[in-house]
Amino acid sequence: MTETTNIKAYGTEAAEAPLNQLGIDRRKPTAHDVEIDILYCGVCHSDLHTARNEWHGTIYPCVPGHEIVGRIVSVGDHVSKFKVGDVVGVGCMVDSCRECQYCQEGLEQYCEPGMTGTYNSPDKYLDTPTFGGYSESVVVDENFVLRVPENLELAATAPLLCAGITTYSPLRHWNVGPGKKVGIVGIGGLGHMGIKIAKAMGAEVVAFTTSESKFAEAKRLGADEVVMSKDAGQMAAYQGKLHFILDAVSAEHDINAYLGLLRVDGSLALVGAPENPLPVAAFSLIAGRKSFSGSMIGGIAETQEMLDFCGEHNIVADIEMIDIRQINDAYERLLKGDVKYRFVIDMASLKNQD
Ligand SMILES: [Zn+2]
Ligand SMILES: [Zn+2]
Repeated sequence: MTETTNIKAYGTEAAEAPLNQLGIDRRKPTAHDVEIDILYCGVCHSDLHTARNEWHGTIYPCVPGHEIVGRIVSVGDHVSKFKVGDVVGVGCMVDSCRECQYCQEGLEQYCEPGMTGTYNSPDKYLDTPTFGGYSESVVVDENFVLRVPENLELAATAPLLCAGITTYSPLRHWNVGPGKKVGIVGIGGLGHMGIKIAKAMGAEVVAFTTSESKFAEAKRLGADEVVMSKDAGQMAAYQGKLHFILDAVSAEHDINAYLGLLRVDGSLALVGAPENPLPVAAFSLIAGRKSFSGSMIGGIAETQEMLDFCGEHNIVADIEMIDIRQINDAYERLLKGDVKYRFVIDMASLKNQD
């Protein structure tokens, strides 16, 4: 029997129910675990999808949250990478098989039997699903814990653990850097990180938006140029000009229009997840040997690399801090795109509740 401790969390018992306070069990740290007192947790759109069972397969009760920053309060006997007092992060995964080809290559997010998600995955130690970061504390194997650079503001660092790595990984994989012209489509939680990171990598960044009001914002975030994607004339000016496009839009949109902006051998990678299939015309790809692809978060080593990169370049997310009791309102605002650009929960607001 695994020993546990009951702690306070915020979650939901059903798809239609609002989130509210509940008690959950965390395992007592085993030899390779660290116990983390959670300071901040970002609010990702996946949290909302999962809490409301929109992707199906949600196990209740559900405690979301996979953009976790906190401080280590205890370590197991065999922990070698961390010590009590360290400021650390936990992202979308807390474990994987560690043996398959992908795990061996540091691509744990694509683990063959499947990674263990930070929430809503079968827990390897307990008879419950894993519970995420909308909670006082979390116990994680040290191999899935990240070091947070000391110079970064902690609350604004939390979103790097999902939004940051989700954009960093494809930008790295498709060799974005000096001399490359890169399009970022959609300026929200993911896209605003994409602009900052691509710019810091040395690329020339072109932001695409459907909203005139985002023009000045995109420039402030680091975009060299901003294009109104609904304006055919503005789009035509970029035909065949881009090396890579990061598409962070989760609404329906015309992929062929964007594929047309790629140079020969250019790639477009999806990180947003539209609900319905996107039609792609064969000649959008054939005429120019182009690739249409996707990317999901990043491995543990790459997530550390991303955090170190952000530390070096002083990159954090633009956030709006909330109290845990505001989470249901925050979800409603998230649905309207009414956030610049990520909500982060101050977890003191949970600890201070009865
Ligand atoms: Zn996420
Ligand atoms: Zn694996």
